Amino acid sequence: MLSEATMATFKTSLRGEVIGPGDRSYDESRKVYNGMIDRRPRLIARCVDVADVITSVNFGRENTLRVAIRGGGHNAGGLGVCDDGLVIDLSPMRYVRVDPKKRTVLAGGGALWGDVDHAAHAFDLAVPAGIISTTGVGGLTLGGGLGHLTRQCGLTIDNLLAVDMVLADGRFVTASAKEYADLFWAVRGGGGNFGVVTSFLFKAHPIHTNYAGPMFWPLEDAAEIMRWYRGLITKAPNTLNGFFAFLTVPPGPPFPAHLHNRKMCGIVWCYTGPAKKAEQVFKPIRGFKTPALDMVGPIPHPALQSMFDALYPPGLQWYWKADFVRELSDEAIARHLEHGAKLPTMHSTMHLYPINGAASRVKNSATPWCYRDAVWAQVMVGVDPDPANKEKISAWAKDYWTALHPYSAGGAYVNFMMDEGEDRIRATYGKNYDRLSKVKKRYDPTNLFRVNQNIKPAK
Ligand SMILES: Cc1cc2nc3c(=O)[nH]c(=O)nc-3n(C[C@H](O)[C@H](O)[C@H](O)COP(=O)(O)OP(=O)(O)OC[C@H]3O[C@@H](n4cnc5c(N)ncnc54)[C@H](O)[C@@H]3O)c2cc1C
Repeated sequence: MLSEATMATFKTSLRGEVIGPGDRSYDESRKVYNGMIDRRPRLIARCVDVADVITSVNFGRENTLRVAIRGGGHNAGGLGVCDDGLVIDLSPMRYVRVDPKKRTVLAGGGALWGDVDHAAHAFDLAVPAGIISTTGVGGLTLGGGLGHLTRQCGLTIDNLLAVDMVLADGRFVTASAKEYADLFWAVRGGGGNFGVVTSFLFKAHPIHTNYAGPMFWPLEDAAEIMRWYRGLITKAPNTLNGFFAFLTVPPGPPFPAHLHNRKMCGIVWCYTGPAKKAEQVFKPIRGFKTPALDMVGPIPHPALQSMFDALYPPGLQWYWKADFVRELSDEAIARHLEHGAKLPTMHSTMHLYPINGAASRVKNSATPWCYRDAVWAQVMVGVDPDPANKEKISAWAKDYWTALHPYSAGGAYVNFMMDEGEDRIRATYGKNYDRLSKVKKRYDPTNLFRVNQNIKPAK
């Protein structure tokens, strides 16, 4: 139990709000993106600055509370919130500062990618992120970060220059290639295990308008499309990204009525090369098999980044399972067709994100992200608004994953994992796990930050 005096001191030493179960905003504040997650923290500290974060970390440690860190709250496993502990909520820290001369972007620990996309676009710049702009900069970056620009610019962590952090003992440090290099290595894929990142400094790229968007084909063509795609993406120039999907066409505009609710396969393209070459690059793509729907054309970067936001609002039920994939064999394609044809709900999908190109230029040991030699990050995503369909979407994702796992490289992208146990975390970090564990011991020996894909401190 926390005494009234302890609570009063904590509340008065924070500039941000402290919310508990008796407060009117409690239920709203404990919600995360995945509607399946229903956790009841003891306290939520809405930090407005670094001083608030230091106070909160010290408070959590001194009172031996379970501590969760909330960035954008998008983690499907609900790692931004916990039962009966303290949530260090960074959502008030959403500032973004662009330095157009140095081509860098500084983002607060609670910023969303939409904040970064918007701010950077005004200077004709972009930072590689994910494909939904309501995702948090914090969790996505600390887990790796893949999206439309992965083949051109690498993972988000490959563009991270420095982080400001509050460590488990309350110290504030800046980690970069020059200072606290061990810590900087660990945060580029090791998640929220090492402290609270209060700001991220990124290298930005001169990207303004892409030639991008989805193309859909009938499910009957899926085998042919997948075989063609696997060859194409392994040889494509880095300026061309395209992730493969099984999907159901949403029943509304901008999709034509005759395709509504049809299960199809698709590729979401993003070409970042010279605009005048775009049509030429897409000529053989369009020529291979005329798509049933072709929405590919010039699009400003923030519009591409937020293209799927409305389809996936907060509060839906989510369950997903993932793997890295080195080879897409004919046999694996056959399994994909079987399960892809059984998408259980309109929102459910399967994505194969290419991680070759620029991301594969980095060595497996250069960051904790040790599947640089894989070609895809694969994820089976069960989604639906209705909690009654929770079992149905989870069972489909699990069955699909079970069928494809034997064809995978072993581990999974950490940001596409639910709570799947220590073996799975070890498989994901592979040879890098022991090094991560040593860094964890140095900076968080008591495992204060354990509401994450947890790396245990070395003994
Ligand atoms: C709809 C949707 C689309 C997605 N698309 C992509 C995609 O295209 N590419 C991709 O790479 N990933 C994608 N993801 C996965 C996403 O990267 C992870 O869910 C990620 O954990 C979300 O980060 P967050 O800050 O929003 O999450 P939160 O739930 O707030 O946090 C997730 C984890 O990160 C830690 N954390 C967050 N911020 C900080 C911080 N500032 N300091 C220390 N620790 C912190 C938390 O403690 C927690 O363990 C997507 C997820 C969803 C739900």
